[in-house]
Amino acid sequence: MPLPTPPPDFRWTEEPWGPMLRCRALDAVVQHGFTSRQLQLRPGERAGDAWASAAASVGCAVPRIGRVRQVHGAVVRVVRAGELDQPIPDADAAVTCDPGTAVAVVAADCVPILLADPVTGAVAAAHAGWRGTAAGLAGLTVATLTREWGVAPASLIAAIGPSIGACCYEVGEELLRAFEEAGHSSIDRAEWFSRDAAGRLRLDLWRANADQLVHAGLLPPNIHVASLCTQTHRDVFESFRAEGAQAGRMAAIVVAPPRR
Ligand SMILES: [Zn+2]
Repeated sequence: MPLPTPPPDFRWTEEPWGPMLRCRALDAVVQHGFTSRQLQLRPGERAGDAWASAAASVGCAVPRIGRVRQVHGAVVRVVRAGELDQPIPDADAAVTCDPGTAVAVVAADCVPILLADPVTGAVAAAHAGWRGTAAGLAGLTVATLTREWGVAPASLIAAIGPSIGACCYEVGEELLRAFEEAGHSSIDRAEWFSRDAAGRLRLDLWRANADQLVHAGLLPPNIHVASLCTQTHRDVFESFRAEGAQAGRMAAIVVAPPRR
């Protein structure tokens, strides 16, 4: 199976279950990855096996993964190593600073974002569909890292994983209004929304989330966008828009590094 070519700051690795996308800048700091559809991560009884495979690919075990029950909101879960046996709370991002503890989200078209701080060892995983993007989830995740562990946003490294691209993401006019009502500037909205030749509205979630990370204090060279569209590359990725409720999910996972 030919894999789509990512930008030079990303690379594919071949795992026992299939291909995994990794960001070279994050590689230098943390174990992490974006799984592909070959992992077959679906809700249900076999999901545990898929999570075990994903965990093994980043050198940790399933009981060490802090997850969230994703609800397209803007709540950030703070994960502590001693609380991993708690019920999974409703949230759309998870952060931790406990060495060897992972945080993960799942997505199929929505934007998975991984963050790592080389200074404190804090890490984050966020799931931003259009609602989370309108709600400013990326910035709220950065703010949580700063509040909890004093992370300086300028030291953070970010990777925006495979998700639906503006090439395929036609949206309704109500989204434009939702972003306006959420307080995003007209300058930002003009960058994030565009119209094709037929006048149909498109939303660039990669750009929107990258811009929100810059607004939160990240340096543009530290923001890495995989630029791979889940709907365009359906042989490698899951796409909710293309497959509806049958679509599986892909995990984005990052492990807090050992203390230096
Ligand atoms: Zn596309």
